[in-house]
Parts: sequence; structure tokens; C-alpha cells
Amino acid sequence: MIRTAKQYVESLNDGRQIYIEGKKIPDITKDPLFRGGINARAYSYELCNHPAFKDLLTIEQGGDRFLFLWNQPKTKEDLIRRRDVYITCMRWGAAMSGMGPDALAASGVTAARCDKAMGTHYTDAVEDYRKHLKATDPAITGAITDVKGNRSLRPSAQEQHKDFYVRVVDKQKDGIYVQGAKIHISATPSCNELIVSPSRAHREEDKDYALVFATPVNAPGIKLITTPPHVHDLDDEEAVWNWPLHGRGKGVSECLIVFDNVFVPWNRVFLCGEYQFSRDQAWMFGVFHRLFGTCHKVISTEEAAGAAALMAEYNGLDRYPHIQEKLAWLAMHAQLVDAMSRAGVEHPDIFPDIGLATPGQMYTNIAKYLFANDQHEQSKVLADIAGGLATTVFSYKDWMNPEERPYIEKYLAGKDGIPTEYRLKAFRLVKDLVGHGLDGAYIHTEGSLAAQKMAIFANAPWDKYKAIAKRCAQIPGWEKNPDLKDLPPLPTKWVI
Ligand SMILES: Cc1cc2nc3c(=O)[nH]c(=O)nc-3n(C[C@H](O)[C@H](O)[C@H](O)COP(=O)(O)OP(=O)(O)OC[C@H]3O[C@@H](n4cnc5c(N)ncnc54)[C@H](O)[C@@H]3O)c2cc1C
Repeated sequence: MIRTAKQYVESLNDGRQIYIEGKKIPDITKDPLFRGGINARAYSYELCNHPAFKDLLTIEQGGDRFLFLWNQPKTKEDLIRRRDVYITCMRWGAAMSGMGPDALAASGVTAARCDKAMGTHYTDAVEDYRKHLKATDPAITGAITDVKGNRSLRPSAQEQHKDFYVRVVDKQKDGIYVQGAKIHISATPSCNELIVSPSRAHREEDKDYALVFATPVNAPGIKLITTPPHVHDLDDEEAVWNWPLHGRGKGVSECLIVFDNVFVPWNRVFLCGEYQFSRDQAWMFGVFHRLFGTCHKVISTEEAAGAAALMAEYNGLDRYPHIQEKLAWLAMHAQLVDAMSRAGVEHPDIFPDIGLATPGQMYTNIAKYLFANDQHEQSKVLADIAGGLATTVFSYKDWMNPEERPYIEKYLAGKDGIPTEYRLKAFRLVKDLVGHGLDGAYIHTEGSLAAQKMAIFANAPWDKYKAIAKRCAQIPGWEKNPDLKDLPPLPTKWVI
């Protein structure tokens, strides 16, 4: 089935144990801090029911319709469509969280491999869960990152306690009991269920930590402690004006998830003790989820390139060579991430022995590395082009105040013909993209990068540098330079 957005929202009032800013929240659907995140997710349900999108996002099989992402990818075409699903949702501003579907896909691969090698029956449990997903259409997330304690110690060698990685503490006929905690788990408040999965390869002594399972977030013993929100206490219009990106999903997302002796029935356990396959699960989740990350970045690198081009235009700078060179870098970065992400699905890893496909490890990891490694370069270039106002720009309330507005309108105008409000909005977008303050501030306080380059160029000891080069190339004249005059020519004959 495909639920409606309303059914989805109502399902989140499920008695979960959730805390934020020191308070326990009885019903997150009524709490303003959670509104944005829930709305962004609800919008993905609307898209799934929308005539223009439902044929891409959902699939009809056996007279029923369900989310395309519940199917296990088997071919290159499945992966190409998976990428299209993610990118389409993101372009429309809907939060189609990838963690859950990516953990499901990873579990399908690991279970098949483990069953083949060890004679286990985890694929039956994965397929049973898949049936449940198709029948009930929950929002799910993936809880992978363990809290980890002392990073230099493996799970069972930890000194303070043994729960820094999620582990099985008891096995019964009908299921298992689990203990531990996962950290930073995105979209937890706006989800109904979780797939819990190891964050690393485990050894035999840590086999209790080689554990994959699915659980509802309201299962007894689960406690959710939510990271405080970045944007809050603003009404909708103000939030979006001030924070064009964060203001749309202004609810919170990441949680510490505590598992306090939580019961999981066997038909929701996808790995339990086969430590040899924890590496597969971690790697498979990694590659599926990095594909999702590259989809995000296809969108956000385009946003950054667009914001920089707008700023250059609104500030009357678009014809200057140093600005064009930086814009070209942003466009190249956006195209590279897109191309490598696409290459990951067009050249997948196919596993004929289990009949399944995953995004190609090489291209997908390169795509993820490219955008993560150059994230700060992108912010640097964007903040540089935009100028200091990306840090010191005024807020919606200033713009709406009739006493301040005439001054802001007059003095913050840029290029002729561009309304001041457009320029302010573009600055707010840059501020939201580059990290809300100090990242951008330190680029422009004490002058822009170009100002330092001009001073450096003007003051550089070019005569000395040229003399050094001449000496290397045996071009006469270097010996007249005062810094080099006491040096002999470089040797021209071998000693032996
Ligand atoms: C906004 C956000 C959303 C996220 N969403 C999710 C989510 O939905 N689900 C999920 O499961 N996770 C999520 N994560 C977690 C993310 O995958 C982790 O932050 C990441 O894997 C790094 O782990 P860590 O934060 O514990 O840092 P650490 O592991 O402590 O890493 C810090 C540094 O220490 C190094 N290091 C750590 N251990 C070792 C070691 N043994 N040997 C050598 N070097 C080491 C690392 O390489 C790194 O340089 C999210 C993170 C963020 C910031």
C-alpha cells in the first residue's frame, strides 16, 4: 500500500519515548520543534500519491502498489531508477530518507551471502520484513553508527562498559534481546521503524556485535534523545526567508538511540553472530548510502553554483576573470559529482551467484569523496564570491520593519534593476549554504581573498624568484640579485 501524508503523520503519535531540549515529548506531531522534519517527510508521501510522480516512485505488483525502494536491486536499471527516485524527491523538497531503504538493500545482499556460505535463513527474515514494508508503508531509517567509546579498542575490549556497540545480550526461542546505543541517526523522529546494522567489521571475539535487525521506534526499551534544532522559534515565512534551505525542514532530525534490553523477534533478525558477514553489511550499507549521499550532493552542488552565479550577477561582478574562474570551478565540481554518481549506477557491481546488484564501489566512493573532500573549498569559493554580507546580512524581521527597510533597500542595493530583496535573499541562501557564520566570516573579515592576493602579488620578491629560476636554467643575470649574489652557479659536472 501507499499511505497518504495524513495517515503517515498520524502514525507518528505512537507512544515513543522521545526527548528534546531536556523535555519528554508525549506526541511529536503536536510539538513545533518536530513539525519541519515531519512535513518534509510527509511531502514524500504526497509525491508517491501524485499522478506525475507515482509511476517513478512506486511500483505496482500483484494488484498492490508500494514504494519502489522496497524492492531489492538486481540490475543496473534498478539502480539507475533508485538514483532517479532519490534525486526527484530531493529536487521537489521532499525528505525521502535513504538510510532505511539503503540498510534494507544492504541486508538483502548480506543475508543472501551469509545463507549461501553458512546455511542460515536470514533471507527469509529479510523477505518477511519486505512484505511487511510493502503492506504497511512505514517510514524507516538506518541506525548504523555506534557510539564507539574509545576508538582504539574493539567492542569487547572496551573498559568502561561493553555497550558502546549494539549487541545481543540474550537469545530466546521467540527472539533476541539487544543492548547499546546508536548516534547521529537522521530522520529518527519522523520515522516509524529502524534497521539496526553494524558500523564496522567484527572479529570472532565480538560476534555478539555482528547484529542486523529491524524494530519499530516505539518498541519497549528504546529511548530517543534528539539533537537540538538549528532553526526554531520562527514562523514558516520567516524561517524560509532567513534560512531558505534549513527553514524548510526546520524540524529536528538526528537522535541518540538507546536500546535498553529491547526484544526483537527472530523474523526481524537479519544477522546474529556471523561475524564474518558484519564487514559485508557495513560495506554494502556504505556503498548504497553513498549513492544516496551523491544524490543529495547533485542537488546541493548545483545550489552552490547557482547561488554564486546569482551573487556575481547581483553584485555586478560576473565579467571579472577571477570571478569567472571560480564560477567555472563550482560548475566543474557540480558536474563531476553528478558524473561520478551516475557512473556508480551505470557501472554497478553485479553478483551473479546471488542475483543481486549494488552501486559500483569505485565510482560511488569516488563521488562521495569528491564532494566531501571539496565541501570546504566549495564554501570558500561561494563565500568569497558573495562577500561579507553573506555573514552580516539582515533578517526577515529587519526587512519587514518599516523604519529600517528604506535604509536597507537603499544602501544594500546592488546591480541596477535587481530588487534589493532579491539580493538579500541570495545572501541568506549563501549564509545557509556555507555554515551560518564563522566559516564565511573568516573568509571576508580583514578583506576578501582577492585583496590579499593583490597585496601578495604586489609584495612578492619576484626578482629573487626569477633569479632562482634563472640560476636553475643557467640563464645569466641571476648573480646580480642581492639574495643570490654570494652563491656559486649550480654544479654542471658530475663528481664521479
Ligand atoms: C548530520 C549527520 C547525519 C548522520 N546520519 C546518520 C544516520 O542516519 N545513520 C547513521 O548510522 N549514521 C549517521 N551519521 C553518522 C556518520 O556516519 C558518522 O558521523 C561518521 O561515520 C563518523 O563517525 P563518528 O562521528 O563517530 O566519528 P569518529 O568515528 O569518532 O571519527 C572521527 C575521526 O576519528 C577517526 N577514527 C575513528 N576511529 C578510528 C580508528 N579505530 N582508527 C583510526 N582512526 C579512527 C576517523 O577516521 C575520523 O577522522 C550522521 C552524521 C552526521 C554528522
